[in-house]
Amino acid sequence: MIGIGFTHATLAARKRIALVAHDHCKVFLLDWAQRQRERLARHELVATGTTGLLLSKHLDLPVESMISGPLGGDQQLGARIAEQRVDMLIFFWDPFEPQPHDPDIKALLRVAAVWNIPVACNESSADYLLSSPLMDQAHDYRVPDYPAYLQQRT
Ligand code: PGA
Repeated sequence: MIGIGFTHATLAARKRIALVAHDHCKVFLLDWAQRQRERLARHELVATGTTGLLLSKHLDLPVESMISGPLGGDQQLGARIAEQRVDMLIFFWDPFEPQPHDPDIKALLRVAAVWNIPVACNESSADYLLSSPLMDQAHDYRVPDYPAYLQQRT
């Protein structure tokens, strides 16, 4: 197996936050986002289709919406994480219901782990993330060293 080397990148003070909630969890995400509206307003928000539409109406903030999750939205967010265009994932996935797009969900969580971005899966962890002093400052984090990876393979 080819080893993965790592390097450092900088997360800007203004974060690009991806938000996703499964249907039974949408009410929890909307309540949480309302509570955290002031903090969220300082960052860029992107979401899967239905979650994004609900959030933009509920918060009256701009939210970029992907396609709905079961139709490919989770994969769109995963691609953005791999491109280092999403800095953080707030994903209220439903622990009680299997989803038709389970492979996409697993892929999204995997790519978030690969690219070492902060992930919150429920209100408590999302509160901890948003109250971190790192939220409003630029800071370094470890990422895969893609140029070195390519060099190894050629
Ligand atoms: P939705 O997708 O925001 O379009 O409902 C969420 C999901 O199920 O991944």
